[in-house]
Amino acid sequence: MGKKILTSWITLCLVLVAFRIPAEAAPSNPERERLLLYQGMEAITGVPWPYLAAVDQYERNLRRLNKDLPEEKGLIAIHIPPRRWSGPFNPDPEDKVPASIQFFGGMGRDADGDGKADPENDLDALYSFARYLAGFGRTRDDIRIGLWKYYRHPVAVDIITHMARIYETMGKLDLEEHHFPIPLHYNYTYRSTWGDRRGWGGLRIHEGTDIFADYGTPVLSTCYGYVELMGWNRYGGWRIGIRDLHNNYHYYGHLNGFNKEIKQGDVVKPGTVIGYVGSSGYGPPGTAGKFPPHLHFGLYTFNGSTTYSVDPYPRLRAWERETRKRLKEQQKQKQKARPGWLPVPTQAVPR
Ligand SMILES: [Zn+2]
Repeated sequence: MGKKILTSWITLCLVLVAFRIPAEAAPSNPERERLLLYQGMEAITGVPWPYLAAVDQYERNLRRLNKDLPEEKGLIAIHIPPRRWSGPFNPDPEDKVPASIQFFGGMGRDADGDGKADPENDLDALYSFARYLAGFGRTRDDIRIGLWKYYRHPVAVDIITHMARIYETMGKLDLEEHHFPIPLHYNYTYRSTWGDRRGWGGLRIHEGTDIFADYGTPVLSTCYGYVELMGWNRYGGWRIGIRDLHNNYHYYGHLNGFNKEIKQGDVVKPGTVIGYVGSSGYGPPGTAGKFPPHLHFGLYTFNGSTTYSVDPYPRLRAWERETRKRLKEQQKQKQKARPGWLPVPTQAVPR
């Protein structure tokens, strides 16, 4: 097959995927349209769509977290900087001519067939990144090498690989649901304590919210996530760390045990039991009982260069409301499903 025929075939596929199919599907659904774009790119470049989805989402997160990055105009958030797009020695960093970009070794490609390699164009940006990754191979390890060469940060490589596992496992992009970390029908209490001073282990700042509950109260995953870490830490005791789709690391400390069904590398859903409330920590493995039982919930965000602690309290409040609302709706649905009569014998049948 000639190069020209191949190029026009690619163009046709992409145009179909990008414009025709979503146009038929009203009302517009960005997750569905994006999924079609990723899957179309997988068909053309061989890069599994969950990795494309993960890179795009990672870049969307960076745009939300860094005020100096502009908000994306289209469906795709991948932002390839001018020097990388046009080639490091290209005298014109804003070059959009595919042939000269290729000549100077730039990443920019034209996918929609308008003759311009435009970094602001959804198809061009996604295709260019997919082609870049495909240059390293299509396995998980190949892709990790490609990501490392691009981002030069181990945390970025891990976050993207782990987000790809979440997308791959769930098979969809619409994964915004959250759950409060304690079942609402258990007794618990919490208030805003992030930033308070802590004495143990030197002067530290309290990087989280403490949710007080009885020993053995189930601890639930707050999000769709990837279990990055499980084990002992001298401050947090038995603790578990889960990565979500927004560059956040959800940290659950002082547990008295884990859900035995869950291991490092698993994908969890909001509401999945991950462990149980305890009082472990502040010493060598097995130390417990140095303070009342509670869940220490911490939230850490990666902005592309550093990880920092975020006050989880406002989110916990929001997730608590979201969980309560969902439970109420489920209750309503159950009542709707009941028959319109009551199986209770009446005193007398009205005649
Ligand atoms: Zn705490």
